[in-house]
Amino acid sequence: MRPLSTRLNLGKLILALALLSALVALANALHASYRVQREQLIGNTLEANRVYASKLAETTQNFIQSAQQQLAYSATALGQRAHDRGELEAEAARLQLQTNSFNSVLIVDPAGTVLATSPLSLALQGVVLNSPGNKEALARREPFISDPYQSATGRLIVAISHPIFSAQGQYKGYVSGTLYLRERSILQTLLGKHYYRDGSYLYVVDRNGRILYHVEPDRVGQLAQENPAVQAVGKGHSGAQQVRNSHGVEMLAGYAPVPAVRWGVVAQRPTEATLAPLASLMTSVIWNAIPLGVLSLLVTWWCARRISLPLWQLARNVQNRDTGIAIRHVTGIRAWYYEVSHLKQALLYSFNLLQDRIGKLNRASMTDPLTGLQNRRGLQQGLEDWQARGQPFGIIALDIDRFKTINDRFGHAVGDAVILRIAQLMRDDSRDTDLLCRNGGEEFLILLPGIDTDASARIAERLRVQVAAEVFDEVGSVTVSLGVAHYPSYHDDPQQALRLADKALYMAKEQGRNRTVVYPQA
Ligand code: GH3
Ligand code: MG
Ligand code: MG
Repeated sequence: MRPLSTRLNLGKLILALALLSALVALANALHASYRVQREQLIGNTLEANRVYASKLAETTQNFIQSAQQQLAYSATALGQRAHDRGELEAEAARLQLQTNSFNSVLIVDPAGTVLATSPLSLALQGVVLNSPGNKEALARREPFISDPYQSATGRLIVAISHPIFSAQGQYKGYVSGTLYLRERSILQTLLGKHYYRDGSYLYVVDRNGRILYHVEPDRVGQLAQENPAVQAVGKGHSGAQQVRNSHGVEMLAGYAPVPAVRWGVVAQRPTEATLAPLASLMTSVIWNAIPLGVLSLLVTWWCARRISLPLWQLARNVQNRDTGIAIRHVTGIRAWYYEVSHLKQALLYSFNLLQDRIGKLNRASMTDPLTGLQNRRGLQQGLEDWQARGQPFGIIALDIDRFKTINDRFGHAVGDAVILRIAQLMRDDSRDTDLLCRNGGEEFLILLPGIDTDASARIAERLRVQVAAEVFDEVGSVTVSLGVAHYPSYHDDPQQALRLADKALYMAKEQGRNRTVVYPQA
């Protein structure tokens, strides 16, 4: 049998297919789980930042309102009556030190002249203020919170002021508390403690998008109105969205307005920091998938083998030249599913058919068509088998006497009928194991396994008498001459022994025909 190509087979193909689909499924699951986790992390962080911003906006709002109330209380007290310088300074100091809400407190008259300050170290008494915050407070004559501006002492500040009116309603100036934006202020105390270490941070903007508070002090005073979160909170909205900060970093920002001052609080965290746990999450997903993955691969491998094995066996045997062996092998194949079972049946059917045809052809090639006896090839085959087994046998050579004359007188067809009839007589007189052969023309050979020379001679003689007694259609009487020999008594080569039987037949002809001659033993 030729070896089959082993480069690719069904088993390997199934395994490869299973592996491929498992990898695709794993990749798909990883991708899906990554997407879901990512959405969830982003969603959670956005919501957390929104809540956080709202809480701090509320804190800021509460602070502003309480600061305004403190100033209102002072303004009312200051408006009751005229105060001397010492009293004004005492009130300023009380406001600043007792409430701890302001970096500094100023009391200013309607002309913009500073009457008293706390701390005194500002050294602004008697100075006429020119700052925009001061001018606007004087002009408005109402509770007012300034935009950030540069103060007389050169600081960036926000001022919260309240007008002072006398009991008669006469405008007497204002009292204001300031927040230093670039130095430590109540804003740091309120907002700074919430600063997270994981990259999230918070800032506060005024209505123009100017930064009032930021973890990076340098950013204070800068404009951030490009930021979509700042724009949204500027319109008074509360919410959360993904934004890009001024450094181009993706951020998850939550925001909430402080309505009292139209400020906005933005809490944000870099998207990257939020998603950092994802990688380890995915790694652990993969690790967790490995045991079951390996197990299912083993199961797939086993199944692939079971599916492909019968097909592989069928394929192997298709090429088997020995149909007998192939039929035995194919019969033993376990056809446990539809296709293999049908292929097996079809293959067995073909093999049996083939074997049948070959058998018929073989038989035909070894048989004489007229008489159905063996021809020379059949004789040869039989002789070989016997020789291999060391089988002794008696030999009778037979030739019809004066057959030419029969042919000439009655025609060929009648001659054939005579040949056929004599073959019939030979067959009737023989055992199954005897080898009857039409040697050509009207000559025959009878080989008798296990029969010695004498018995062979008797059988030959009996046949001769039978033929002589037979009445042939049209022809009437026909005789035959016979020569007898034996293997290996006469010769240890079967062919030579056959030749001796032939010689004996020749002698019978010489001696007058219609007789049996045993080849004379030396
Ligand atoms: P002898 O007694 O010496 O054997 O005389 P014979 O005429 O039989 O001589 P021989 O055996 O030489 O003759 C053989 C003849 O048999 C020659 C041939 O015409 C005839 N013959 C050979 N084969 C066939 C056959 O298949 N059918 C017929 N009808 N005749 C055959
Ligand atoms: Mg002859
Ligand atoms: Mg003859």
